[in-house]
Amino acid sequence: MRRLAPYQTGLWLAEYVDIHCQLCRIYRSTPQSQLSSGKPSLNTTGSSSDHSLSSRLYHQFHHHLNKGLLCAYCHHSVAWLPEPFDVDIAVGSSLTIQAATYYDYPMREAIRAFKHHEDMTKFPLLLHAIRQLPRPHGCHHDNSVIVAMPTTNQRLIKRGFDPVGILSAQLSKHWRIPLWHGVQRIDDTVSQQGLTRAERLSNLDNAFALTKTPPVRRLLLFDDVATTGASLQALGRTLSRAFTDTTLNSPLVVA
Ligand SMILES: [Zn+2]
Repeated sequence: MRRLAPYQTGLWLAEYVDIHCQLCRIYRSTPQSQLSSGKPSLNTTGSSSDHSLSSRLYHQFHHHLNKGLLCAYCHHSVAWLPEPFDVDIAVGSSLTIQAATYYDYPMREAIRAFKHHEDMTKFPLLLHAIRQLPRPHGCHHDNSVIVAMPTTNQRLIKRGFDPVGILSAQLSKHWRIPLWHGVQRIDDTVSQQGLTRAERLSNLDNAFALTKTPPVRRLLLFDDVATTGASLQALGRTLSRAFTDTTLNSPLVVA
């Protein structure tokens, strides 16, 4: 993964060396494990089974290294998970879309700077948001894969890097669920902006092609931004055709 090297270095510096919040740059960052999410936290009291010495040492070591990326104050400004919403992908089958945070300041500016100007200083903030995504219930590395929204070769050449690929690699690490690359983008739709929802959908309907058969039945689709969910819906439709019944995918995700 040669492409990841520069991002990994910047991330390593932000996460382990720079003690300042990656958003305000004023306060000290707080380990993400100590920050609450927008969801009610799970009560883990009483589960003392994993408190062996080695596990305790591991957690202490990890805690020592992981200084976090945002301060508690900035975290609370982006910590609220939006309500998930469903889109239909086939008869009797729908896709649940869960965003990591709202598409608003400061996340909107960060994703635009990252995506359009390859601004790596925004990467830690985006990673912080990705780590807020709860792993879908029942999904693990043996029964699920993450499918990142594919891009066209043209767009990849023009942009020079693949922002969705980089973000999805981080999600894969966070959830410990592998990425699967079995779908190609075959359209050259430059922009969906300014089109109605119906126009977007018909435009997108033939935008993807499977190159392999999915290895598992649980496919977790990922995109960097989902406002209406039209692209994810179209990708979901293509993938659903790979299965004969309707138990295809459940949740999916967006930063
Ligand atoms: Zn801050």
